[in-house]
Amino acid sequence: MFSLADKVALVTGGSRGIGRAVSVALAESGAKVLVNYAGNEAAAAETLELVRAAGSDGAICRFDVADHAQVDEAVPRLAKEHGGLHILVNNAGIALDQILLRVKPEELERTMAVNVGGALWCSKAAIRLMMRQRYGRIVNLSSVVGEAGNPGQAVYSASKAGLIGLTKTLAREYASRGVTVNAVAPGFIETDMTADLPDKVKEDAIAHTPLGRMGSPRDIAAAVLYLASDEAGFVTGQVIGVNGGMHV
Ligand code: NAP
Repeated sequence: MFSLADKVALVTGGSRGIGRAVSVALAESGAKVLVNYAGNEAAAAETLELVRAAGSDGAICRFDVADHAQVDEAVPRLAKEHGGLHILVNNAGIALDQILLRVKPEELERTMAVNVGGALWCSKAAIRLMMRQRYGRIVNLSSVVGEAGNPGQAVYSASKAGLIGLTKTLAREYASRGVTVNAVAPGFIETDMTADLPDKVKEDAIAHTPLGRMGSPRDIAAAVLYLASDEAGFVTGQVIGVNGGMHV
């Protein structure tokens, strides 16, 4: 149903976890995929191999989404080299698990710079191009904790709630230019981000998930794929929860 033939997609943080699954799902539907990463080149190259195995092509591209100069250089260059930019998935993110009383200024600054600033700078660079095309799809990776809060994640949940505000604002600002902006809010997903959590934390999260399991990156990729498709052309400013019922 979802054909992305002739579309070019940029997936930030596409080297691992959810970003990798999103890259593969977009490739399976025919999109050319540009796999961004921060430092893990081997993982990004592995994602590109999976993109090619899915029958498409793309490239890997290293830049720090928090650095607006790097973003401003990379995004237009990539679009020029690869035939435009139709889909942006703002997936790159870092987690900070810390109760409020232990949060340090530099932790707040870096988490906000990557999680909120990254999506903002990449969207700004992409929307410039998408407006000219009068077509664009932006999908931001928020989180269930941005909707419901979570003790021990004051900064991270604030950053993920911030992405919801950004999503709704950009949806209103650029709808008339043919650009839709939506968010996916995952629940508890099996990736490197959650791999090192103590078993007790994982058991508690699963106990609070009515569907009784952790999600897979592929569960999230399916929602992103829909929002990136032409078929979602009447959907903008929305947050789709993919959380096993953890937050309803
Ligand atoms: P992950 O496995 O930790 O992977 C993070 C990805 O982001 C990596 O590809 C990493 O690149 C990239 N990245 C980090 N900082 C970056 C920067 N400054 N510039 C460019 N890329 C950067 O994370 P994940 O679990 O797949 O999560 C993906 C997104 O979903 C995040 O936004 C996360 O907050 C959100 N999310 C995850 C869960 C969950 O349970 N896992 C739940 C809700 C929301 P390198 O490989 O180069 O390091």
